[in-house]
Amino acid sequence: MRAGIEAKVAAGGRIGRDEAAWLFTEADDATLSRLAREVRARFHRPDEVSWLKMAIVNYTNVCVARCDYCAFYRFPGESGTYLLSTEQVCAKVDALLAAGGSLVGFNGGFHPDLRVSHYVDLFSAVRARYAGRPIEFYEMTVAEFMFVSKRTGLDYAESARRFAAAGTRWITGGGAEVLDDAFRLRHSPGKYKVDDYYAAQQAILDAGMGSTATMVIGFDESLGERLNHLEALRRFQDGPGAGRLTSFLCWTYKPGHTALGGAEVSTREYLRWLAVCRIFLDNIVHLRTSVLTRNEDALLGLAYGANDFDLPTEDEVTQKAGAIVRDDHASVLEAAVRAGFRPVHRRAFPIGPGRPAEPAPPPA
Ligand code: SF4
Repeated sequence: MRAGIEAKVAAGGRIGRDEAAWLFTEADDATLSRLAREVRARFHRPDEVSWLKMAIVNYTNVCVARCDYCAFYRFPGESGTYLLSTEQVCAKVDALLAAGGSLVGFNGGFHPDLRVSHYVDLFSAVRARYAGRPIEFYEMTVAEFMFVSKRTGLDYAESARRFAAAGTRWITGGGAEVLDDAFRLRHSPGKYKVDDYYAAQQAILDAGMGSTATMVIGFDESLGERLNHLEALRRFQDGPGAGRLTSFLCWTYKPGHTALGGAEVSTREYLRWLAVCRIFLDNIVHLRTSVLTRNEDALLGLAYGANDFDLPTEDEVTQKAGAIVRDDHASVLEAAVRAGFRPVHRRAFPIGPGRPAEPAPPPA
């Protein structure tokens, strides 16, 4: 098995599911790291890592999905629910800009009273407020898009058309966790089925918006369920308009205050899985490592195939479950240097088939 995998990677070829399983369960760390770096080098300079500073703005914690791995949501009518106004959202954007950030990802719960028009109005107002400023908005996730489309009574194509016509540029692949129907049935039966998720993402891409791929590990998922996620993702990325998912981000489940509970995966397991993702997902240009959930340990992922990371300033979803957001960003960048990489401050990724990251201009 090992020789066959090494030969495929060296020839720029593609490994199969069984080979990915073998790599994860049998290969030593040094082999995984070396092979992942070989695949990384197809797309990126071997000694560079790109980064930017971003905030996740959680505009509402009201949610009817009841995922058992979530410590963030409040069911409608419970105490502690909130829905941010446009002014409150903009105050968070102002704070990010003041901190030198350049990317906002909006992420909220499945609020049963909101319709597409609410999101279109909110995002249009925010975009108008910051027109001409060096900031990009990931306006919602595929999971939220699916829910609000259904609540509004729109099919995905029409819903995506309305968002795109209103100026939305990105609906990212968040809310994916593990894209496997057995996993979904165990932990978030009210959220979506995997085929439905990809139908929605296809509609988003077909409407001309950008999207991304994500994964979360460390619940109780089996290796087979993880591999189902990677296989379906690679197949989707090979499909019509191939290569349109710009990046893949893998982070780790935080169990604090969740109904599911459990323990976090080790850093070693995270790094090994990152390497398998880099080797298997040979049609996705950018592989991102998660400072949000691993802090400085995430930078060890640069030696396991990752080429990009963000410095987070806030994300209530993971913070409620135990993530620690630090503001000593310089030490994270120093950790990248210690790991042997030159950090390059980048612009937001361009929409469409992946290209290397563009460096950001120096601060004014
Ligand atoms: S993970 Fe998202 S969809 Fe699931 S309960 Fe939490 S906020 Fe709702």
